[in-house]
Amino acid sequence: MSAESPKIDHTEFTNPNLEVLYSVDQIQQRIAELGAMITSEYRGRDLVLVGVLKGSCVFLADLMRVIDLELTIDFMSVSSYKDGTVSTGDVEILKDLSNPIRDKDVIVVEDIVDTGLTLSRLLEILDSRGANSIKLATFLDKPEPRIKTELKIDYTGFVVPNRFLVGYGLDAAGRYRNLPFIAAVRDPSAV
Ligand code: 5GP
Repeated sequence: MSAESPKIDHTEFTNPNLEVLYSVDQIQQRIAELGAMITSEYRGRDLVLVGVLKGSCVFLADLMRVIDLELTIDFMSVSSYKDGTVSTGDVEILKDLSNPIRDKDVIVVEDIVDTGLTLSRLLEILDSRGANSIKLATFLDKPEPRIKTELKIDYTGFVVPNRFLVGYGLDAAGRYRNLPFIAAVRDPSAV
């Protein structure tokens, strides 16, 4: 007799282990607000959005389409080293920018700031490259665990609780980036 595979009665988007915190509509409304702010503040400037791969790709794609200005985009990929689950602040550049940022007005676009160590180090690296200005936009800000950095965030989508979040670019072992909403994982051992 062959063993039957367990019956799964939900889809990826209706997984009962996910608790939706921000819906598609809430996300789009907030991003439109951020886009309006950036549009009014960057008029006449030489704006480049720098997405930090991979998590920021969904946020960047939505944000750039609500900024009604001439702009360019670029990407960086860094690996942050963790001591267990805690970021150590050591970063290695896996993919650098394709174009120089000298004299540009840069907004670094991140998915989530947790301890802030990865981004602080990344900003130090970018600071030495002669940009006219560098600001920071993060879709999510998890301020509670930020015990090690004083990071100034210029544009924030949502301030979130200290839980493990997935969706809208954020992953768990590579999965869930395609969820159109932000969810908290109810049981992290079951992802
Ligand atoms: P930090 O150096 O700020 O502690 O690390 C930030 C990075 O940790 C984020 O870019 C993201 O990759 C990861 N991270 C922090 N919190 C979460 C979370 O709740 N969910 C997911 N999926 N990744 C997170």
